Amino acid sequence: IVGYYNGEFVTPDSGIVPLDERGHQFGDGVYEVIRCYNGRPFLLDWHLDRLWMSLQALRIVPPFTKDECASLIERLIAESREPESAIYLQVTRGSAVRNHLFPEPTVKANVSATVRPVTSQTSKAPGTLLMMADERWANAWIKTINLLPNILAKQTAHDMGADEALLVRDGAMIESASSNLWFVRDNQLITAPADRYILNGITRRFVMELANQLGIVVRESKLPVEELTKVDGIFITGTLTEVFPIQRVVTHPDLPYASLPAVKGSEPLAADKCQVAWEA
Ligand code: PLP
Repeated sequence: IVGYYNGEFVTPDSGIVPLDERGHQFGDGVYEVIRCYNGRPFLLDWHLDRLWMSLQALRIVPPFTKDECASLIERLIAESREPESAIYLQVTRGSAVRNHLFPEPTVKANVSATVRPVTSQTSKAPGTLLMMADERWANAWIKTINLLPNILAKQTAHDMGADEALLVRDGAMIESASSNLWFVRDNQLITAPADRYILNGITRRFVMELANQLGIVVRESKLPVEELTKVDGIFITGTLTEVFPIQRVVTHPDLPYASLPAVKGSEPLAADKCQVAWEA
């Protein structure tokens, strides 16, 4: 496993990040996860474009050019000697004494990365989604390292025996905790539009291109929860998730659409109370 921090290769547990670091203290940073297949970064240009969009959205000055960033990715892959890996790349606003205001004068952004070996499952056992409210902020399109609602959603899904969350916002099923959500109906694909409420996944874009090549219609629209029973199939997509088929969607009576119990001190959710809302 390769680690990297501001120009140096380090071990991932080296403890090199300063205490007064804005990613560490505020979650003031952005990231990308890039999949490496056969020693090559997959869809790297799209990842770099999205990284730059995220940086710009948070007014973080990129500490490198896109070309320099691409060279860094190549160096990380070479250093890891792994043909199949996940590259985690993080850029934060930098190190400065803790203060909500941006550091003045501007400090250099911190860049960290890890490379870990991963393998794809060639045949994926279909999974389960747990439906719950999307409690994220209204800028989910920015790939920030602030992932608390995503973590809680995914953990709740896991606790209930599901693989991922199915997040509902304004009555529509728009995304999962760390993947994009797709429905199949009448031989068409339906996925939420890439507005401010979802992350515009690189894999989502790639699947759209594949569908286009295959002459499959993709509709970008928000599917209301009431339409769930009318869908023929469901899958989720993501850089490491790839294309993952879904067998069923479950709901929980104590979790109408909320990942956190609303009442303080309430009992932990009982997994055996989950009810099937849709099955392939
Ligand atoms: N949606 C969320 C919330 C994510 O965190 C991710 C990836 O981690 C995705 C969707 C899928 O995006 P991508 O295909 O770029 O990995």
